[in-house]
Order: sequence, then structure tokens, then C-alpha cells
Amino acid sequence: MLKVTFRNLWNTPVSGLRSMSQSSLAGKVAIVTASTAGIGLAAAKALGKRGAHVVVSSRRQAGVEKAVALLQSQNIQVTGTTCNVGNEGDRERLLQTTLDQYGGVDILVSNAAVNPFFGNLMDTTEEVWDKIMSVNVKAAFLLTKLVVPHMVKRGGGNVVFVSSVAAYQPMQGLGAYSVSKTALVSLTRALAPELAQSNIRVNCVAPGIIKTHFSAPLWQNDDIMDTFKNQMCIKRVGEADEIGGTVAFLCSDEASYITGETVAVTGGIGCRL
Ligand code: NAP
Repeated sequence: MLKVTFRNLWNTPVSGLRSMSQSSLAGKVAIVTASTAGIGLAAAKALGKRGAHVVVSSRRQAGVEKAVALLQSQNIQVTGTTCNVGNEGDRERLLQTTLDQYGGVDILVSNAAVNPFFGNLMDTTEEVWDKIMSVNVKAAFLLTKLVVPHMVKRGGGNVVFVSSVAAYQPMQGLGAYSVSKTALVSLTRALAPELAQSNIRVNCVAPGIIKTHFSAPLWQNDDIMDTFKNQMCIKRVGEADEIGGTVAFLCSDEASYITGETVAVTGGIGCRL
């Protein structure tokens, strides 16, 4: 009797084991932009830990070398190159490096964003507006356009955009940045039906306040944090790894029926358009 029970236990798929294979990204090739620090680096790590070959990049060579060394020390298959996503030649080099190194691409995590101005929206100059839209929205779209034909050659793939809680609740002082992040939510929904035909899922992540260099002026300011904590169910700043895990989930087979979606990872700050 005991023997039969054990045999049945052994033969019954354990949910943990099953989800482990569905979460696996073994053999997949992932490009992650702005991935030498913060959320991008955490996403590269999460994808790499699930078996993906990752290509990290950012504007500065020293940052790329440091990120590659860190990920290699964690037994992740990784290569890196400099890429300012706002520069067409850099985007093309990023893709070419990936193709040369790994022969194709399955995953694009478009994570780069800038915010060169803090202040009233009405004081935003045309130059600042153009810079924010160009890096945060246009470059995300153009990189997707560049990469998608190579996903099609592989029979499918995944695109994940990194938006923000500011997409849903424009942040004071960050007006143009907030508008750019709302555009990514819309870009996700607009691309999803088109690319589903090519077996490519398109999703988005909207982080709340995450402890990185980018958001230091927010989480280092007690008054600002008190205001945010009032809106949070989980009353703490988020960690970059908590976004990385969500990105990896969205790229895995566990999320095979999710597309056009934006997942809010905000500790419970309400996100509705
Ligand atoms: P972070 O820790 O400051 O890291 C920024 C990364 O972006 C660095 O690797 C930086 O490296 C790179 N970078 C900056 N400009 C770039 C460009 N034009 N092209 C390519 N790489 C560039 O920032 P983060 O907080 O992780 O932010 C990542 C994303 O999360 C952004 O899209 C941001 O809007 C979003 N987000 C963050 C939070 C938060 O609370 N932290 C909340 C919501 C959304 P180099 O300087 O070498 O280029």
C-alpha cells in the first residue's frame, strides 16, 4: 500500500517541477536595454537565471563591463555592448552583436528611459519634451521594429516594455515623463494584436517606487515616501529583483496566454487609466 502511494507520488507531476520547466528560458536569447544597473540589470539576471543568454547594454562601456562580470560570476551566459537607445547606429549594433554572438533573438526587454527635467509641465521646453519622447517611446518602438523580424525567423518571441506607475497617476514634477510612460501602455496594447499573428507576445511592467539610482530623489525623501506609503498596501520601497522576476515570468511559457497587458508591480498603489 505504502509502496503504491510512493509510486503514485513519484509519477504525479509535482506542481513545482512543472512550473520550473514552464518558467525555463533555456536556450532563449534576450536583449535587455539599460541593463547595467537597477531594473534592467535585475531583469537580465532573472532571465539569465532561467537559462536565457542575455545581452546587456547601456551608454557607458565601464558599466557594461561591470555588469557582464557580475552576471558571469553568477554563471549566466552573457555578452554586452554599449548602446544609447536614442541612437539608431547603437540600436543596430546592439542587434548585430546579439546575432553575431547567439545567432538570433527571442526576447526584447525595452527598459531605457530618461527624465532630464523636474518641474511644472508647462515649463517643459520643446527640447526636453522631444528628448523624453525620443528615448522613452520612439526608441522603444524603433528597437522593437528592428528586432521583431528576427523573432519571426525563430517562430515567435516576447517583447516587454518597462513603463511606470506614473503612466496611471502622473507624478508632480514629472509630467512629460509620465506621459511617455502612458504611451508605452498604449504601445503595448497596439502592438499585441498585430504581433500575436507572429506568435510574439507584447507585455509591459509598471513598477512603483523601486530602490534604484533613478528614483533616489523619491525614496530618499521621507515626506515624499510618506505620501506614497499612504497609497501602498505593502508599505515599503520595492526591490529591482521584484521587477526582474515579473519580466522573466512574462517572457516564460507560464504567461503563454498573456499579451497586451501591463502588470503593475507597485506594492498595491492603484493603477487604472
Ligand atoms: P537606474 O537604476 O538609474 O539604471 C538606469 C540604467 O539605464 C543604467 O544602466 C544606465 O546606464 C542606463 N541608461 C540610461 N540612459 C540610457 C540610454 N539613453 N540608453 C541606454 N541606457 C541608458 O534606473 P532604473 O530605476 O532601473 O530605471 C529603469 C527603468 O525603470 C526606466 O524605464 C524607468 O523609467 C523605470 N522605472 C523605474 C522606477 C523606479 O522607482 N526606479 C519606477 C518606475 C519605472 P548608463 O548611464 O551607462 O547609460
